[in-house]
Amino acid sequence: MKKRRVSIFGATGSIGQNTIDLISRDPDAYDVMALTGSSNIAQLAADARSLGAQIAVTADERLLPDLRAALDGSGVEAAAGEAALLEAADRPADWIMSAIVGAAGLAPGFQALRHGTTLALANKESLVTAGPLLLQEARAHSARILPVDSEHSAVFQGLVGEDMAAVERIIITASGGGLRDWPVEALASATPEDAGAHPNWDMGQRITIDSASMFNKAMELIETKEFFGVAPSQIQTVIHPQSIVHALVGFNDGALMAHLGAPDMRHAIGYALHYPDRKTLPVERIDLAHLAKLEFYAPCDTRYPALKIARAVMETGGHAGCVFNAAKEVALDGFLAGRIGFMDMSGVVEATLDAISSKIGLSNAVETLEDVLQTDQMARKTAWTMIEQHAEKA
Ligand code: NAD
Ligand code: MG
Repeated sequence: MKKRRVSIFGATGSIGQNTIDLISRDPDAYDVMALTGSSNIAQLAADARSLGAQIAVTADERLLPDLRAALDGSGVEAAAGEAALLEAADRPADWIMSAIVGAAGLAPGFQALRHGTTLALANKESLVTAGPLLLQEARAHSARILPVDSEHSAVFQGLVGEDMAAVERIIITASGGGLRDWPVEALASATPEDAGAHPNWDMGQRITIDSASMFNKAMELIETKEFFGVAPSQIQTVIHPQSIVHALVGFNDGALMAHLGAPDMRHAIGYALHYPDRKTLPVERIDLAHLAKLEFYAPCDTRYPALKIARAVMETGGHAGCVFNAAKEVALDGFLAGRIGFMDMSGVVEATLDAISSKIGLSNAVETLEDVLQTDQMARKTAWTMIEQHAEKA
């Protein structure tokens, strides 16, 4: 059987490691081309050795000597820096996982699409900041993008064989995060430790806090609009504390197709890896009788102001997603640094959107990747100014 050539961008992260877990269970099926990481050289080198990768790339040029030393005698090439990441994306591959976190994930993803490669997309920032551009690039090169965010994989699975014209609505679920049972009045005093504990998913600190504030869900609403091309009014979110139903698709005959699965990212990654087939995956099987109940309720805008902002961003389009993404990252930095409170993050994001809107406007289309990076920088600077102003007032 012909081996599939795969590369993993962001191999040392949570999504990357879950991808490696799946690939290493069936080593004869894959030829690993490139693995990339940044600071965790030991992990990157160990995985590159054990998978027999062609090349390992660290984003951090200062760490190239360490990577070289760690790979000594292995036959794996070592490289570093942004240009090396792009060159790794040029290596012929049948399937590439895009799991770098943040705006740094955009350029390698675009580069991979230019070769017509199938891109498994975990990097949500690509869709939120440059959705139309990314899809256009994929179309131009007949490349396929497969969603890896669990909700979007669930929607994608619910749409197999369906006509988009029959879709009335898409509902993505949210756990409600670690603070969902706190009284609203208490949220202002929540600390990073309070917000950094997740009831169901085991993720990094930043995404766990984004889950408590629902900035993560806000990103996912925007992702849904961009990826599936539906109107903002057709996208809903519902709180579902058990995190078993990941998304639902509602059709014009009133049917709702739900996707259920254990909260384990290997499900969505595995679906994208084997698409259009389904293969056995090492994820927990759900026992409905044991679960006994699945609950759903509407999120409250006072508790989760990020959702309202996401709606405005979806309506505006253009550069709004890019400003939103940058501002929410900076707001989170401000919260982690103790400069602003948990509930101030949404204020910083709104003020940044307003400021950039009056400076350059937001709704003009994103034309190039450089556009995105420029707006990203401007939004970050503005968001920091908003945080300083807020801290001075407090
Ligand atoms: P992570 O922080 O665990 O890993 C990030 C990876 O990116 C690491 O390999 C790191 O070395 C690399 N990286 C960091 N900065 C870089 C830079 N400047 N240049 C190049 N590489 C860099 O993140 P994660 O949780 O695996 O998430 C990856 C992406 O997938 C994010 O966009 C996230 O929103 C999305 N996502 C994650 C989950 C999840 O459960 N973890 C679920 C859905 C979507
Ligand atoms: Mg998700």
